[in-house]
Amino acid sequence: MTAPLLQQYEEVVGSEVMQELSVIARHVGKRRMQNINSTPVGGGVAELLGRMVPLLRELGVDATWDVIKGNQTFFATTKAFHNALHGKPIDLTGHMLESYRETTEMNLREINFTGDVIWIHDPQPAGLIAAKTRIGRRWVWRCHIDVSSPDQRVWKFLKPFVDQYDSAIFSMPDFAQQLSIPQFMVAPSIDPLSDKNRELDESTIDQVASKYHLDRERPILTQISRFDRLKDPIGVIAAYRLVKARRDCQLVLAGGGASDDPEGFEVLQEVRNAAENDRDIHVLLLPDGSDLEINALVRASTVVFQKSIREGFGLTVTEALWKKKPVIGGDVGGIRLQILNGITGYLVHSPEGAALRTLQLLADRELRRRMGENGFQHVKQNFLLTRDVKDHMLVMLALEHPDEDVVHAD
Ligand code: UDP
Repeated sequence: MTAPLLQQYEEVVGSEVMQELSVIARHVGKRRMQNINSTPVGGGVAELLGRMVPLLRELGVDATWDVIKGNQTFFATTKAFHNALHGKPIDLTGHMLESYRETTEMNLREINFTGDVIWIHDPQPAGLIAAKTRIGRRWVWRCHIDVSSPDQRVWKFLKPFVDQYDSAIFSMPDFAQQLSIPQFMVAPSIDPLSDKNRELDESTIDQVASKYHLDRERPILTQISRFDRLKDPIGVIAAYRLVKARRDCQLVLAGGGASDDPEGFEVLQEVRNAAENDRDIHVLLLPDGSDLEINALVRASTVVFQKSIREGFGLTVTEALWKKKPVIGGDVGGIRLQILNGITGYLVHSPEGAALRTLQLLADRELRRRMGENGFQHVKQNFLLTRDVKDHMLVMLALEHPDEDVVHAD
């Protein structure tokens, strides 16, 4: 009998995809996969592991997940590392390096390394590689962040750890670094069964739309994003105004992250000022855990924006394409892998460009439908959790053939 989780995924992705996963899982066999990261909740990595580990287990793979421990100083240090790896200059002190080393030592003593393949996620636990000389096994550094132009001092500190791994995995080529070890590219993914992405009935969408005073009879343009200048919410308002001069519509700018982030709060104020008293601009500050509402807001939308000036992968784009929405996005980062220009949406470089494309889409229902369908298929083939799980299993197998470009599974 099919296990419940496998059955649920099969309903979304089809039996061929699930059969392929089962075959690969059989090849993985008894090899144990141990994931280690720095937090059990919050953030994309914890979200991914929380979804991926149970699915792997149902496929028969012995996947586990451990979390390192650390005090406030350690997490303040790794937060600073995170910013520095993104290219933001920080004040790197000897005290910080000491905290990283001490915490690593403590976790080396406390963690039970059970995996045949040990997946270390992001920089926080990267120092655990020190255990490799003692216990062997295969070690993968799964880097979820963009380290292509890091602060050199932090990178210099981390790189000697990274170079000891058997391989490194990056989300896209643009995020990677020159390393002496083999690298794999594994794109991020979304879970089609999560509250943020699962199907909703029309009455739920209606309810959420009316809660936020949206009129479903008129076009709704939406951007879901933290209130961050790099997401260009002011540019989105400028685009909306240009559209609005020609065609009636409403704009939703919904996001969180402004309550505990002083810069986010400032951006939220700027956005509110720019919205003036336009009753058709809805600036929504959503608390954490608003996944179902975000899902409904996107589903209620006619066109979705992600007009970022800089972007990581841009999961909001994946989420909107999955809901069959044409997406107008900035021509940056992972948005470029997702918006195939003119096929799943449009890449733009200015509010004027965004407005022009929006008008084109609002005037053509068939174009919207076609793009929505293309976007859905693009995500289905490339950016769902099932593809991520497949890649993880394939990396496990490929690691055993470090010098081969093509691995034949027998
Ligand atoms: N998101 C959310 N609440 C918000 C804004 C965004 O839950 O108020 C989610 C969004 O649905 C997506 C993720 O946070 O899953 C944002 O990821 P993305 O890669 O688009 O951008 P980031 O915020 O990581 O720069």
